[in-house]
Amino acid sequence: MADTSSNKKHIVILGGSYGGVACVNKLLRNLSKDSNIEITLIEKCDARYHCVASYRALVQKDFAKNLWIPYTNLFPKGSPHRIHRGLVRNIYNDHVLVAPIHDGTSESSLPSSELQRINFDYLVIATGSMIPSPAKWALNSSTEGLRKLDDARDLIVQSERIVIIGGGACGVELSGEIKYAFPDKSVTLIHDMPALVDYPRFPESFKEEARRYLTNHGVEVILNQRVEVEGLSRENSVQKAERSIKLQGSDRVIQSDLQFFSIGIKVDTGFLSTLEPSPNKKALDKKTQTPFDAETLLNPKTRAVKVRPTLQLDHDAFPHIFAIGDISTADPVPTCMAAVAAGETAARNIVKLIRKEEKRAAGHHPHYVHNPQHDHQHLGDEAESVDRSDDETNGYSCRSWNKLEAYVPVQTLMVLAMNPTGGVSHLPVVGSWFGNLTAKLAKSSDLFSGRFWREMNMPRP
Ligand SMILES: Cc1cc2nc3c(=O)[nH]c(=O)nc-3n(C[C@H](O)[C@H](O)[C@H](O)COP(=O)(O)OP(=O)(O)OC[C@H]3O[C@@H](n4cnc5c(N)ncnc54)[C@H](O)[C@@H]3O)c2cc1C
Repeated sequence: MADTSSNKKHIVILGGSYGGVACVNKLLRNLSKDSNIEITLIEKCDARYHCVASYRALVQKDFAKNLWIPYTNLFPKGSPHRIHRGLVRNIYNDHVLVAPIHDGTSESSLPSSELQRINFDYLVIATGSMIPSPAKWALNSSTEGLRKLDDARDLIVQSERIVIIGGGACGVELSGEIKYAFPDKSVTLIHDMPALVDYPRFPESFKEEARRYLTNHGVEVILNQRVEVEGLSRENSVQKAERSIKLQGSDRVIQSDLQFFSIGIKVDTGFLSTLEPSPNKKALDKKTQTPFDAETLLNPKTRAVKVRPTLQLDHDAFPHIFAIGDISTADPVPTCMAAVAAGETAARNIVKLIRKEEKRAAGHHPHYVHNPQHDHQHLGDEAESVDRSDDETNGYSCRSWNKLEAYVPVQTLMVLAMNPTGGVSHLPVVGSWFGNLTAKLAKSSDLFSGRFWREMNMPRP
């Protein structure tokens, strides 16, 4: 809880995965000498889930040890920083309410009065997204996650004709991994678009190479077919049943005994509905003069949190609240590399805001006029294009300490790891696809496991 009796600053990060941990690490590097800073990471799971490696762990049991990384060494021993295990239920202007988690489950019906209150001066929302399992699991315990993964692997072993519905990056990787690990099983990927991985800014040659790679490795790829399988959905995304899947516009029927639903990314931003400007701020929208409505902070289609280039929420009343990674609108294509970059940008901006407050307290005034009615207004009113010149000891350069950094969406390096030996990759600089070697070097062999275990200061198992 924030220490209101002193001038300690409490930074709270929600979600301890790619974005959240990158933010924590950057803050630690910038603020290690500050005794008046406390960081709390709130996370519902007992270990960090490295979802990028999930499909390899699905087909290769001994790889599963890479998936959940303990938080034990994230913060230095004896530091005031801590991990708080809990499910964030509500966000307010200066605190969050968190449901405790016991034995991997949280009491969903717990009344607000029994939730834990954690105050903050700065907040970073990094609670990510849900992608149908076995990519991500709607659970709070690594033990349960490993058990579910074992169950799904057993289903693959018991099946002969496997159908995957959805040919985005996840469906493509899932089909490739299954076919490589179980070459004797038939694997069919059905996609409703004319091309696989049909994301903005990726060249046709890359999409075509993904299709060619899978086909060459024995996966049947069926495009332009929208099929519905009874009972198969985002929530029930792995189903073991005998199914005859009829293709539209032809007499063909695909027989299958195991189906995966691999469509769509979803964010849960319900916890923002309680957010309101602090009473000493005007709660009226400047343009329309209507009362504040938290709904305006969300993209109406995706429900992602709208952020400014500085990654602060897109409203003047919340310059002390940031959103990063999949939960935010910061990147057109949500990726873990984007979440990491955004986490680091948010951390640098928070450091700048803290330094600015310190300077102000010490009587040094920046050149803009401060409006005392808006006590946080001064925190985010200027962004510069990109200035990453902050040094790691004091967090700002003298030239730019009163300007926040504008986040630049990362150049999308897309690597489709289809098996341990290769896949297809798209390098933005060169603008085209590359095959096995690039994919293997960049991702396929260990799926970034070494990097993210190191980031958590943990020896690789
Ligand atoms: C199979 C697969 C392969 C991928 N491959 C790549 C790749 O090669 N390159 C790439 O860049 N990206 C890849 N991605 C995408 C990447 O994994 C996501 O973009 C990334 O996970 C986003 O990170 P994040 O930190 O925003 O959120 P997440 O990884 O979703 O993490 C959110 C964290 O918040 C916690 N949380 C959520 N809600 C709450 C709550 N209410 N209270 C407390 N804690 C909460 C969760 O437990 C989790 O730890 C891949 C994804 C998958 C599934």
